[in-house]
Amino acid sequence: MIVVGAGLAGLMAARQLVGAGRDVLVLEARDRVGGRTVNASIGPGRVTEMGGQWVGPTQDRLIALAGELGVDTFPTYHEGRNLLELGGRVRRYKGTIPRLAPHVLLDIARARRKVRRASNRVRAEAPWTSPKAAQLDSQTLSSWVRKAARTKKARGLLEIATGTVMGTGTAELSALWMLSYVASAGSFDALVDVEGGAQQDRFVGGSHLISQRLAEELGDILILSAPVRRIAQDGAGLDVEADGLQARAHRAIVTVPPPLAGRISFAPSLGGRRDQLTQRMAQGALTKCAAVYPEPFWREQGLSGQAVSDGGPVSTTFDNSPPEGAPGVLLGFIVGAEAIRHARRSEADRRQGVLDCFERLFGEQAAKPGIYLETAWAEEEWSRGGPVCSFAPGALVHCGEALRQPAGRIHWAGAETATVWCGYMEGAVRSGERAAEEVLDAEGWRL
Ligand SMILES: Cc1cc2nc3c(=O)[nH]c(=O)nc-3n(C[C@H](O)[C@H](O)[C@H](O)COP(=O)(O)OP(=O)(O)OC[C@H]3O[C@@H](n4cnc5c(N)ncnc54)[C@H](O)[C@@H]3O)c2cc1C
Repeated sequence: MIVVGAGLAGLMAARQLVGAGRDVLVLEARDRVGGRTVNASIGPGRVTEMGGQWVGPTQDRLIALAGELGVDTFPTYHEGRNLLELGGRVRRYKGTIPRLAPHVLLDIARARRKVRRASNRVRAEAPWTSPKAAQLDSQTLSSWVRKAARTKKARGLLEIATGTVMGTGTAELSALWMLSYVASAGSFDALVDVEGGAQQDRFVGGSHLISQRLAEELGDILILSAPVRRIAQDGAGLDVEADGLQARAHRAIVTVPPPLAGRISFAPSLGGRRDQLTQRMAQGALTKCAAVYPEPFWREQGLSGQAVSDGGPVSTTFDNSPPEGAPGVLLGFIVGAEAIRHARRSEADRRQGVLDCFERLFGEQAAKPGIYLETAWAEEEWSRGGPVCSFAPGALVHCGEALRQPAGRIHWAGAETATVWCGYMEGAVRSGERAAEEVLDAEGWRL
């Protein structure tokens, strides 16, 4: 059995197959495991995450896996006031919703209700079979939100929230895909909340530790720096060509994000529907920035480190300090078109732009961190964006089924194929488990 990609989905699929007594080879393009999760050092014994990091309630498979691997969780720091910068004015607020004019708050509440009702009607496991699927898929999320929210401020806040969750502007997303994404997480609040939501907890030692421990378990069946270029199937098995090696197996589980799967050459062709799918699912563009200070100085000012801003280039911030509480780490997300623009600036301008934003929000102490780090996921050859791939309007209804449907001896996994917590580490883990089961069933290897 060959597994392509050693992110959480691939490592999990391999673990399941090895556990079932199968011969497995894992081929990974990068010189490291973990895919869209990666740690960065911020001093001796201290790390911060530059990719996926948070875990929350109902993400049971990931929590169980971390427990088995001896990786603990700790709560995200979120005591104190949050900040909102809108139109050049910075204000403080408590909780998820900022203090705004009553008519804006009512509008936000109404829009959230509409998202809840609409997502409750969407079937995350097969969104194309949902009521009004074609109608919803024919709209961008932006057109849908224009009807759901009337005020500019409410729309602006929804734009920022969606951007941070999807890495993409609402104008680029199918409304059906977004509602299906919400349905797979349980609710919109579950996506955006810290307490009780997807940002509630973090992993001690960083999320990357989970992949590193999985890789240690797998040992030398995992080959790094081996990008898979071609997969050719015949009646009895398949041949996989990667840089520097060729291998034959009964079946393969391809766990790379759909746009990257579209860059692998398949023989015979997988057919128009699957190919169209890989042409219509695009990665978001998310850049993660981290500024490291001796202490999380904002905590003493009664601030949580969380901010939402329309001032650019950063749109949201979080306190990302390690569990010991020092050093202090401010994390910022730059999303969508702004992330693409930001990447074209010089290194000095990028750093300055982000620190100017942190200073506007948190004061002059934020201007001079000891360490500044940035990962632009759209620039990463083996991710080509992040945090997740989304459907452009119109494609989910007619191509969506090909996301998980095996193509002969090729099975698909990866966070985007998950029906529970699609796009998240939880979804990646579940998808790896599901694909491994699929292969065991297809080969009749079940007891
Ligand atoms: C900035 C950022 C923040 C995020 N925040 C969160 C969060 O807080 N919580 C959360 O749950 N999720 C978060 N996510 C999403 C989460 O990281 C991903 O959903 C998850 O890690 C995806 O795992 P995967 O195995 O499906 O895919 P990937 O991690 O993308 O793994 C695919 C692997 O395939 C490899 N590959 C690609 N092409 C080839 C090829 N041709 N041959 C061989 N190997 C190949 C890649 O190198 C990669 O290792 C975030 C992601 C990003 C980028």
